[in-house]
Amino acid sequence: MSETMFALLVEDSPTQALLTLAELEKVPNVKVDHAASLAAALEFIQRKRYHVVFLDLTLPDSVGDETVRRFCGAAPELAVVVLTNHDDDQQALMALEQGAQDYLLKAKLDAASLSRSFRYAIHRKRAEILVREARDAALEANRQLERRMRQIDCMYGVSRILESPELPLQVALEQVVAKAPSAWLKPDTIGVRLSCMTGLLPSGIVETPGFVETACRLEAQVFAGSRPAGRIEICWTETPPAEGDEAFSTSERELVRELARRVGLALERACVQKELVQLATTDFLTEACNRRHFMQSTAAEIQRAGRYGRPLSLLMIDLDHFKRINDQRGHAAGDEALKSFVVMARDLLRDQDIIGRMGGEEFAIALPETALNPALVVAERLRIRLAGLQVPVSGGEPITLSASFGVAECKVGAGEGLEACLGRADAALYRAKATGRNRVEPAE
Ligand SMILES: [Mg+2]
Repeated sequence: MSETMFALLVEDSPTQALLTLAELEKVPNVKVDHAASLAAALEFIQRKRYHVVFLDLTLPDSVGDETVRRFCGAAPELAVVVLTNHDDDQQALMALEQGAQDYLLKAKLDAASLSRSFRYAIHRKRAEILVREARDAALEANRQLERRMRQIDCMYGVSRILESPELPLQVALEQVVAKAPSAWLKPDTIGVRLSCMTGLLPSGIVETPGFVETACRLEAQVFAGSRPAGRIEICWTETPPAEGDEAFSTSERELVRELARRVGLALERACVQKELVQLATTDFLTEACNRRHFMQSTAAEIQRAGRYGRPLSLLMIDLDHFKRINDQRGHAAGDEALKSFVVMARDLLRDQDIIGRMGGEEFAIALPETALNPALVVAERLRIRLAGLQVPVSGGEPITLSASFGVAECKVGAGEGLEACLGRADAALYRAKATGRNRVEPAE
């Protein structure tokens, strides 16, 4: 020991103190202070850093194992050598259990034993601290690992939910939000909220029950492709962390970003799916149903009408002299005319009515819950509205249009199918054409 070391002797007996101090002063490079009570000793260690404390157990203000416990509790990093009057193994063991590093019998004190004990206590204390730190580190690593395992488990579950193709997106997102907080977040985390901006979700927002917006929150943007598609927020109830403190760990931040990424992919997939359905069912020019989709939807409506004994009518419509518009004004003008017809018809029809482009300038309309006479009224309104329409065309006069209509009520009670009913409506349309166009003809 070349550097100066500091020892504190805690001893209430003046005679014993003199004897012990005399021996301690013989130990090279050690400087000693003396306290005569536990209270005085605790004050000494507040003011100065000691390497070892020699501690008498019987003091005016504390006796026996209480003395060791109180002292070691107040100075957990300090090496302690207990001084005992009797050769008492029990008491020595007790002292070591309470946190002392060594013990010495007062009757056998000399410079050599004090020097040995001094060094031994320091080494032992260092070893104890190293062991404690290693144990704490292992426990913390374990906790981190367990948390990470829960996070991985949760992310796996979230992936399973988002990747299951049969699950509607809204339901999938609700499940994701419900799964997230208990599985990966701190116990005091109280809510996850997912807001979507794609218009794919009826509500636009799903959140865990009890979601409360607080100062403590973690956010991540959801992107579907390159478009911002929503946001994930995680909130919890504790008071905000002190400045500079990280409220969430790096791995939690990454996890939430990863979740946002996966939700974005699910939204992207749902968008593509929606577009595919749109493409498969819609006439690209007019956005009316295509022929196939019209036939499917209307056949289903006719079945339903037959089941419940409800009326249903069909209109077949052909724009008059349409070839003349294409020839005289060009195909772009013809396209505008077709689009205008659908926009006008949609405006006049109900939501449940189905309009389909059957080909060229020919359209069909299905009117559920509608018998022949009201269907004729609808056709007449469409005819009049169309006749009054002025379709603007760039670089020329607006186009005027008219159409011929054949109207048939489906004989659902007699088991008439879609093809047969359309055939009757088509025959009526042919008569309307043959008898001068721009008119409505009921089927026979
Ligand atoms: Mg004493």
